[in-house]
Amino acid sequence: MEASRDFVYQRFCEYYRDPATVIPSPFSPGQREFAYLLFKERFMVRHKRFEGIRPLRSMLSETVPSDVYHSCAYYENPDFDMDKKGWLGADLVFDIDADHIPTKCDKIHDEFTCAKCGFSGKGLIPEVCPACEATKFETKTWPCELCINSARDETAKLLDMLENDFGFSLDELHVFFSGHRGYHVHVEDEAIRSLDAMARKEIVDYVTGLGLAILDKDAFEKRKKKSAAKRFNLHNFGWNKRLKLGMQNFLVNATKEDLKNIGIKNKALLNNKETAIKRCITDGRWESINGVSIQTWLKLAEYIHELQSANIDTVVTTDVHRLIRMNGTLHGKTGLKKVEFPAKNLQDFDPFTGAVAFKKGAAKVLVSDAPEFKMGGETLGPFKNQTVELPVAAAVMLICKGRAKVST
Ligand SMILES: [Zn+2]
Ligand SMILES: [Zn+2]
Repeated sequence: MEASRDFVYQRFCEYYRDPATVIPSPFSPGQREFAYLLFKERFMVRHKRFEGIRPLRSMLSETVPSDVYHSCAYYENPDFDMDKKGWLGADLVFDIDADHIPTKCDKIHDEFTCAKCGFSGKGLIPEVCPACEATKFETKTWPCELCINSARDETAKLLDMLENDFGFSLDELHVFFSGHRGYHVHVEDEAIRSLDAMARKEIVDYVTGLGLAILDKDAFEKRKKKSAAKRFNLHNFGWNKRLKLGMQNFLVNATKEDLKNIGIKNKALLNNKETAIKRCITDGRWESINGVSIQTWLKLAEYIHELQSANIDTVVTTDVHRLIRMNGTLHGKTGLKKVEFPAKNLQDFDPFTGAVAFKKGAAKVLVSDAPEFKMGGETLGPFKNQTVELPVAAAVMLICKGRAKVST
């Protein structure tokens, strides 16, 4: 194996072979399918069954995979072929990943090249290649702090809905840093276990705010018989409440520019903010200000809807057989670990200290290109074609990201 790859492999070995390494057992491990990616062969081993964390740990320290997954599903026979597994239920899982969230900086640090035709570009990785419509890409991404923070904001919106609209308590929601550029939320509650893909799609539609009736233009037109104000009638729970609170909070601080940015050039709304909040939003008399029409409120509601929907990877939640990275294991693209923290600590959890697996030692690496970044409380870089001695965690991440080589 190439020296840099071997360096990373050796660090992963130390992590999985250290008895002090904490790897929590997933709930009911004997009913789950386990899978892992082999370091050298780059081959995915699937349909493995482990009765508990001890045999699983022996496998980890013997095999030392680059990535480890388990099913969100529970099966009678997790080690059988897919159609013979005997599906018993599945956790409800959400994946929030910077890969799917547009940010100001993704054009600076992310690149993609179509595996089929070679078309390449910067920024958010497209779902299909604009040139040939293939769906496989070679990507070069960066676990950027700003991008992770925008994933964190999306996670906060999701948690708020799960808590306040779905009625889960925060301690029932398992929140994890994914080890790369995002967060996972697992719900293991008995109540959700038997939901099928369709039911899960309904939940996805809710958190993304898809098909919100109040914003459905066709339906709005069809209900023409009633007065516009009657048709634009927001009640006091769920999304309707979210829209009202959102509009109120937006209006309190909104400037002329803010309104213009969302396509509202209405002076009457700006000049009557307090009345608008009290009479229109709170009392529901939407047309009580001269010059502020239902169309204006619709525009504002649309913007708030955009702002408040949670940007999750919808495919992950609806797939009842999904494999998800295992808590406490290392991410092959960063060397950081997937780690759980209390939901209430979302804002304070720092992945670049809390998910660091390699805490000792330093290594000399030749860095081709890396922006400034933080690791284990230190600020490092930017680097360009230079040999530097770095903490092991930083060296591993740069090598995994294809931005550095072990210097000999
Ligand atoms: Zn292509
Ligand atoms: Zn970024």
